[in-house]
Amino acid sequence: MTRVLITGGAGYVGSVSASAFIEAGHDVVVLDDLTTGHRAAVPAGAVLHQGTYVDGDALARLLETEQIEAILHCAARSLVGESIREPARYFGENVAGGVALLDAARAAGVERVVFSSTAAVYGVPESTPIPEEAPLRPINPYGETKRAFESALAWYGRAYGMRSVSLRYFNVAGATEALGEDHQPETHLIPNVLRAADGGPELTVFGDDYPTPDGTCIRDYIHVSDLAQAHLLALAATAPDDSRTGEPLVCNLGNGGGFSVREVLSAAEAVTGRTVPFTVGGRRAGDPPVLVARSSRAAQILGWQPAQPSLEEMVGSAWDWRRAHPGGYGE
Ligand code: UDP
Repeated sequence: MTRVLITGGAGYVGSVSASAFIEAGHDVVVLDDLTTGHRAAVPAGAVLHQGTYVDGDALARLLETEQIEAILHCAARSLVGESIREPARYFGENVAGGVALLDAARAAGVERVVFSSTAAVYGVPESTPIPEEAPLRPINPYGETKRAFESALAWYGRAYGMRSVSLRYFNVAGATEALGEDHQPETHLIPNVLRAADGGPELTVFGDDYPTPDGTCIRDYIHVSDLAQAHLLALAATAPDDSRTGEPLVCNLGNGGGFSVREVLSAAEAVTGRTVPFTVGGRRAGDPPVLVARSSRAAQILGWQPAQPSLEEMVGSAWDWRRAHPGGYGE
């Protein structure tokens, strides 16, 4: 049992992880400023502190009073388009705030960090599936700030003994019975497809002239519950005498296979039994044609295997959550 602080624990990935950590017997403290997170998403059994990790002094006090042993750092600004318009916010929170978090951890003697990183650190890959050793060439401030924090973590590890795992998520999808995706505005494909199936605005498919078999972009989707399990395994790997984090560990998290936008649409029609109205629009800036992870490192080093790799399970669970929570978290 470990006392874990989950930053962003009221968000989509953070809340599902908080719930999995509690189920696994850990003590969970959530730090979330609730700007994009939802109070109702914080699972019973977790202590919620409303605040920001960017305030290093307050965070150091919180780590000490709550006797935190490890940090799962999920909180961040995470919208690509917004990051291009407002890089100051992204560098300020994700990088400067991230360094404040690391310094607070040092001050409080917390030496274990699991970090929510992203496939956006790779930019437009030369080839797929993308291995972790691929060059990091982010094409937007979001990816750049995640790369910068990964890099700070690595150097803090070498200099100060911080043990870390950075998990580069590909496309997170799906829901648990209680917890799902409720973003304002919603930019992600699967929630937008389901909203269209449910009588909402029709979907715009961002381009069907890509060099892929059906012309639409291919992404590597991973179930949010599988992601939470990877976080648990990563936490274990940061234990003080665990050789896997003697050097900072970086792992991709994906299924190692991809689905096109059209395949997601078809899966949604099959799952919902409804037609998904859509139009084909222009390409969205910054979308590479294919993003698929090589995911063998997470399997070999962390022992992680996705339990729900099918599109039907991901889209189906997201649909079930949507039906059970028509107004999202209603906040
Ligand atoms: N996409 C789309 N319509 C939408 C949202 C997304 O066609 O309303 C496409 C997008 O261009 C990308 C894929 O769906 O090729 C996945 O996009 P998402 O925003 O879910 O994740 P990303 O790959 O950007 O992290």
